[in-house]
Amino acid sequence: MQTEDRIYAYSAVLMGSPILLKLFSDNQSLAAQVFGLIKQLEDLLTVNRPHSEVMSINHAAGSHPVSVSEPVFNLIKRARAVSLLPGSCFNFTIGPLVKRWKIGFHGDTVPPASELQALLALTDAHQVILNEQERSVWLAMAGMEIDLGAIAKGYIADVIKNFLQQQQVTQALINLGGNVHTLGSGWSIGLKKPFSDPDALIGVIEVANKSVVTSGIYERYFEREGRRYHHILDPRTGYPLDNELLSVTIISDDSLDGDIYTTLIYGMGVEGGLAYLAGLPHIEAILVTQAKEVILSSQRQFSFRLLDDEYHLR
Ligand code: ADP
Ligand code: MG
Repeated sequence: MQTEDRIYAYSAVLMGSPILLKLFSDNQSLAAQVFGLIKQLEDLLTVNRPHSEVMSINHAAGSHPVSVSEPVFNLIKRARAVSLLPGSCFNFTIGPLVKRWKIGFHGDTVPPASELQALLALTDAHQVILNEQERSVWLAMAGMEIDLGAIAKGYIADVIKNFLQQQQVTQALINLGGNVHTLGSGWSIGLKKPFSDPDALIGVIEVANKSVVTSGIYERYFEREGRRYHHILDPRTGYPLDNELLSVTIISDDSLDGDIYTTLIYGMGVEGGLAYLAGLPHIEAILVTQAKEVILSSQRQFSFRLLDDEYHLR
């Protein structure tokens, strides 16, 4: 724990990420409860271990439906709906491709195109059959795998925020490695400078009572023969998404929304993304491009200060 201006910071490593909790009073036991809650939810949702509720669905692919807890069912229902939006680049049945690429994990390789093509056939969200009464999920084709990696942190951040509110906490920040959620005002959140040293920032985002989620192609990637392969896959091609964007940040009330829209907007690119955002007044965005431009949406719910002179505002 370190103290600065009466802010108490607690950290842990969970979900393969550094987790940071900031409070305005020293409350070790509350921090322990928060980390315990994160661990509990990770245990339900992870696909990076042999056993979890989500893995029990995957193990039964092509065989039988599996009944799951209410939060897992609801999250899957939302993920399915978003995956089936017209033109959506979000696809929670991307599991077989994620496992094959192993990006960010030991043994990452560029799979042969024919293999990717074959795996794409297993990524049809229509083939996830939900039953509300039984609260069951059935993957209709053998080999299908769901992966909630793009939204698990957002969901968990929302649960933590609600938990802190129930505990009468009015001022707090939780950072789940890219997903930041805030309670109260006066929070400054750094926007990371891509492919630079870990502390370098493009600028600072100021928010009150908002979620700030960033998804970037510089977070997890590997390089082979001069090409970079990052961890956000294009469900239309089976390869990493390839466009003019380096990162997408979403500012919203809920972190689950933030997580969903970072991936959706990523897939739309700058022009498509901005047009789409124009119809979503409750969702704001900061787009960073390969051309070192920073593009801001309306800024009703945040303010942004540019710090790095290699980047410029558009
Ligand atoms: P992180 O916060 O870890 O950078 P993101 O929120 O950007 O993660 O989501 C990336 C993760 O989502 C990948 O590691 C993978 O598990 C999963 N994923 C990759 N591509 C897609 C996609 N097109 N749709 C949904 N999930 C995806
Ligand atoms: Mg995400």
